Amino acid sequence: MIMPINCPICAEPFINDFQNNYPGSTEWIRKSCRRRLDHVIVINGDPKNETSVNWISGILSSNICVIWWFSQKKITLQIKGGKECNDIPFFEPDFSNYKRLIEKLKTYILFS
Ligand SMILES: [Zn+2]
Repeated sequence: MIMPINCPICAEPFINDFQNNYPGSTEWIRKSCRRRLDHVIVINGDPKNETSVNWISGILSSNICVIWWFSQKKITLQIKGGKECNDIPFFEPDFSNYKRLIEKLKTYILFS
């Protein structure tokens, strides 16, 4: 998986906020968009090693919140105003094509 450098929604460069509370603890990166407060992706894992990601959460539209659990190989979808929480089959997120990513998630929502 390639870490997004720009916001997948509006292409604005992300501001990276590295959070590491103490040596040896799990590292976090909060990638927030300069344009919109609700364009945020949080990555939990070693930011220098893309294969060591534990989970990624993102608000991908005004009503869809997604968590990719890399260790458990599952995806949790939270839909505002709809069903509480859905687990869908795992796939790696491709943030380079936001439209396709949302379409894929919507298809899973429809059939879950
Ligand atoms: Zn954005």
